[in-house]
Amino acid sequence: MNKLLEVRDLEVSFSTYVGEVKAVRGVSLELDKGETLAIVGESGSGKSVTSKSLMRLLPSPMARIKNGEILFEGRDVAKLSEKEMQDIRGAEISMIFQDPMTSLNPTMTVGKQIDEVILKHQKVSKAEAAKRSVELLALVGIPQPETRYKQYPHQMSGGMRQRVVIAMALACNPKILIADEPTTALDVTIQAQILDLMRDLQEKTGTAIILITHDLGVVANMASRVAVMYAGKIVEVGTVDEIFYQPKHPYTMGLLASMPKLHMQEEQLMAIPGTPPDLLDPPKGCGFASRCPYALEICLSYQPEHMRCSDTHQAACWLLDERAPKMDDTVGWRE
Ligand code: SF4
Ligand code: MG
Repeated sequence: MNKLLEVRDLEVSFSTYVGEVKAVRGVSLELDKGETLAIVGESGSGKSVTSKSLMRLLPSPMARIKNGEILFEGRDVAKLSEKEMQDIRGAEISMIFQDPMTSLNPTMTVGKQIDEVILKHQKVSKAEAAKRSVELLALVGIPQPETRYKQYPHQMSGGMRQRVVIAMALACNPKILIADEPTTALDVTIQAQILDLMRDLQEKTGTAIILITHDLGVVANMASRVAVMYAGKIVEVGTVDEIFYQPKHPYTMGLLASMPKLHMQEEQLMAIPGTPPDLLDPPKGCGFASRCPYALEICLSYQPEHMRCSDTHQAACWLLDERAPKMDDTVGWRE
């Protein structure tokens, strides 16, 4: 068995003063050892909430895992105690966020911060931890690592800080690295360098990566598989080639059409008209129906099931389902 992580039917809700927001509505996904899975979607699609659930980093008590299993090496993370979770967090599964300043302590040198992660999870002396921290700074491509070890976050550029965060995340050789928009806050050249670095490190360390992003360009460069999220659900999952060259879900097609390409004029970009549904009161049928140019009548009343397009490719759309009646004879359709 190669599955590192198996998420089954995950549902996460937030209680707000106006009601319950159903942010994640039945997500299932799998992650193999050493692979990179990208989760793509607009903001509010549930991709960050899904990834935070894996680490149990959702703000409680507002957020609640209402249903589902998160099996990490066969153990259900959703059921572990906070103490057991602390042993997993950072050591087995670690996370890099968009803004390095939120993950770094401004009052502590970066070296000490990496030391802390190592000392928390490994039985080594302080001197050994410090030596390992300097090695990690070198590994993530920080020049003069001994000098940088003694510096504070504000003495470094944004790109350098993100490298420090990556060093911290890798300090205990995690099996899974979750990267939530890891380069969004950085300028384009630095973005490319950080992505190159992550790819290199993955080859060296064999860590599996879950990459959360809204940027399909990043996905093409980094991922082996892609899950597309919309309105709290995965609507399509496949290899990078399947998603880019044979998309089956109208939302994925819309995303691809709105992706800038080289030599393309701004006005040729097709943004998907409309807005995502309100997850306080999610639609009964397909979440994309109000924006979908191909919507059938059945789409408004019944959720499409995941249909298998290949061994690696699935999409949840009525257009792929033989049972979907033609537009003009939906009336009377029953399971
Ligand atoms: Fe469009 Fe219907 Fe497919 Fe949803 S199920 S994406 S509304 S065709
Ligand atoms: Mg997000």
